[in-house]
Amino acid sequence: MNNQQLQQRKQAVIARGQGNLYPVYVERARNAEVWDVEGKRYIDFGTGIAVCNTGHSHPKVVEAVVGQVGRFSHSCVMINPYPQAVELAERLTRLAPGPSAKKAIFVTTGAEAVENCVKIARAHTRRRGVIAFTGGFHGRTNMTMALTGKVTPYKNLFGPFPADIFHAPFPIPYHGISVEQALKALQTLFKTDIAPEDVAAIIIEPVQGEGGFYPAPKAFMQALRQLCDQHGMVLIADEIQTGFGRTGKFFATEYSGIEPDLMTMAKGIAGGFPIAAVVGKSAIMDAPLPGGLGGTYGGSPVGCAAALAVLDVLEQENLVERSRAIGAAFAESLQSLQRQFPALIGDIRQQGAMIAMELVKDGDANQPNPELTQRIIQAAEQHGLILLACGFYGNVIRFLPPLTIEFEVLHEGLEKLEVLLHSL
Ligand code: PLP
Repeated sequence: MNNQQLQQRKQAVIARGQGNLYPVYVERARNAEVWDVEGKRYIDFGTGIAVCNTGHSHPKVVEAVVGQVGRFSHSCVMINPYPQAVELAERLTRLAPGPSAKKAIFVTTGAEAVENCVKIARAHTRRRGVIAFTGGFHGRTNMTMALTGKVTPYKNLFGPFPADIFHAPFPIPYHGISVEQALKALQTLFKTDIAPEDVAAIIIEPVQGEGGFYPAPKAFMQALRQLCDQHGMVLIADEIQTGFGRTGKFFATEYSGIEPDLMTMAKGIAGGFPIAAVVGKSAIMDAPLPGGLGGTYGGSPVGCAAALAVLDVLEQENLVERSRAIGAAFAESLQSLQRQFPALIGDIRQQGAMIAMELVKDGDANQPNPELTQRIIQAAEQHGLILLACGFYGNVIRFLPPLTIEFEVLHEGLEKLEVLLHSL
């Protein structure tokens, strides 16, 4: 069965709403390399959207998962818990930034973690409002769609959305939105849309992921922390795409030196096994009543085993530090490409191994080039590369290599990108 035949079968039975970027069907993968059903090899610069921070099928993660499935695969944290869930909560609460005592809950997906943050914040504050940011992405469930700033394709046709969600501008100095302007807009929102005394939470990605890899400026994060303290609002850091060493710190929030009240964790937490968590200050986390949080599979024993192995690998292989070295190697190569293609390549942003390259027209930052971005993404397939796009205008190529990628493979991938750009 080849890729084309599988794609035809897929299109007949999987709805177009769950479309696929590449008609390439994976047969096996190891670290940063993927082989399709036709035996073709690809270098994976997307890691299933920032999931395989420890690479595809890291032997220690595989061993932990197989061992756990052999012992027992399910019990439910809410019925008979197991030591792995306790150990994982202990380790995550220690890793989360800030000195406060913390607790965790486990769910299955990133969107669920965000939903639960809203539930916890509302239970704690007994308030209704939640403020999110333009360009932000928080998931595809009803509440998380409402929080998401970008309409197409995430929100089209799916309304009405839950009420009491408000959006404020995310500061992007590169696009002319300064921290001062964003803070002023927030104050205006407090006057015209919702009083701060009615706001349960502010949710922010410390680096906007789907929105285009824009780090939230430190001064903005600090100002949000102050505002939340001043008005009793809960500050939620959505670290689903940025966590587990991706940005060169264990969590991206660490760059701003603040302690969020609640944090979401998913994706990189378990190297591909669906498990997610909310970790936050104990006094807030304990607001909901027993039975109000969780789900059948939340914190499954196999997910916990995978996550514990991922944490071990991140530590043993110094992957947080390695993330910075990977990012620096990418930035150097992309800057060289920028010099070769000044009319096409705009801003290059990088925080650890969360790296973005904007495609523009005539070298003008204000003229995004989503068409060229799509051509590059599509051409990547022929060149044996897996690339992902993002950004409000769809003109950003994002690079999320495994933090375990061998430097030869990394450079081979970047050379493929250079050849690709010259072939356009
Ligand atoms: N929040 C952020 C910042 C994300 O990047 C994502 C996924 O891309 C989500 C939430 C949703 O996570 P999931 O797709 O696991 O539901």
